[in-house]
Amino acid sequence: MLFGNWQGAECVYVMSSVVRKSTLKGIAMSAEQPDDIVEKTEEEWKEVLTPEQYYVLRQKGTEHAFTGEYWNHKGDGTYQCAACGQVLFGSDTKYDSHCGWPSFYDAIPGTVKYYEDRTHGMLRTEVTCSRCDGHLGHIFPDGPRPTGTRFCINSISVKFVPEKLD
Ligand SMILES: [Zn+2]
Repeated sequence: MLFGNWQGAECVYVMSSVVRKSTLKGIAMSAEQPDDIVEKTEEEWKEVLTPEQYYVLRQKGTEHAFTGEYWNHKGDGTYQCAACGQVLFGSDTKYDSHCGWPSFYDAIPGTVKYYEDRTHGMLRTEVTCSRCDGHLGHIFPDGPRPTGTRFCINSISVKFVPEKLD
């Protein structure tokens, strides 16, 4: 049972656990962990991140819709974690979801982790970088084929790197 409960600019679906399970089936749930986990104290993160990056990546904040650098960004390349540099998404899985945040239908296998997020009175699935555990955004079951999953990602959590043609 899916509640099509769009919360205005927050672009949020409230999912039941049943829907959530089928959502997670469509995407590559990998248990593999990177060898080079990045761990820093909160003080160290504050030194390397801007206050805006720190708010989203470490405090699980959300940038305002249609304000980030990449919600409408086109171009071939990859999107790396803004905190640790791990490559998370390819531009080939980016699509226009009209929700105000960069959206992808899949992540590069092994590069993201999923957590149940019950904050703000909703049940959502949080996505973090598997290397530094930085908050990226959430996944929702309204994405396009082949996964049916929308990775709703904060622009500020990622950095676009244009494809190098060699
Ligand atoms: Zn990272």
